[in-house]
Amino acid sequence: MAGLGNQNNLLCESSNDENDVDDCSATLLDLKALDCPICTDALTTPILQCDNGHISCSTCCNKLRNKCPSCALPNGHIRCRAMERVIKAVIVPCPNVKFGCKQKFSYGEELTHEKECTLSLCSCPARNCKYTGSYKDLYSHFKIHKGERGYSYRFTFGDKFAQVYFELTEYTSVVMKERKDGLLFVVHCFTEPHGVYVTVSCIAPSALEVGEFSCHISTFLEKYNMTFDLPKVKKIQKLNFQTPEEDFMLVPTYFLHGSQALKLRICISKLNQE
Ligand SMILES: [Zn+2]
Ligand SMILES: [Zn+2]
Ligand SMILES: [Zn+2]
Ligand SMILES: [Zn+2]
Repeated sequence: MAGLGNQNNLLCESSNDENDVDDCSATLLDLKALDCPICTDALTTPILQCDNGHISCSTCCNKLRNKCPSCALPNGHIRCRAMERVIKAVIVPCPNVKFGCKQKFSYGEELTHEKECTLSLCSCPARNCKYTGSYKDLYSHFKIHKGERGYSYRFTFGDKFAQVYFELTEYTSVVMKERKDGLLFVVHCFTEPHGVYVTVSCIAPSALEVGEFSCHISTFLEKYNMTFDLPKVKKIQKLNFQTPEEDFMLVPTYFLHGSQALKLRICISKLNQE
């Protein structure tokens, strides 16, 4: 056990050229062997097994109420530590290796990293645009959408507010372009029977390097005034068209007075980071 590890180390140490490190690695031809046979997600610790040795991830084990789907024996009481060791020992590169990320991870952990990797690709939030690129390039790419009837607003962090106008029958998202950091934010409306859900997100991976932002939204109608504070703006790599379950402002239907026009005041600020 420990001997194997030492042998590998010895091999690596004996070579001076970094490229030779590959000499002591093995090739696994089928990475799927490291995925949960039930849900096909990458296996992560704890890995569980039934008395017959069928393995599953802990999520599947819970979902199937501790019953092995292959042989119906109880599952969930025995950990498959051998497989857990294998998963840990398989080192894979960040999926963005082709864009220059040099980080490596134990199998499965690269997917967690990918959401934070600053080199992960983001999709342009303009309708019908297929462009994907680094979040740093999105701002300048977005210039090609100038003048399109898709609605975008320019602003600077700390501005009092931007007045954002929606004609909900025509479009449901507008893009706010932050001048100083060159970032794109999207204000997205989802119409549901009882009201309109409004979300504000930043198009970027969730890396710390991007920064953190808060948002203040308000809307008003005659004598009513409604405000909403989002302490942390979500970072997303592409627009999501599913009605959100959290982090939204709900503008009740009666507020719209039967019209499909919605006027919002939006103020996005950059949070100070330690
Ligand atoms: Zn599973
Ligand atoms: Zn079984
Ligand atoms: Zn990476
Ligand atoms: Zn585009």
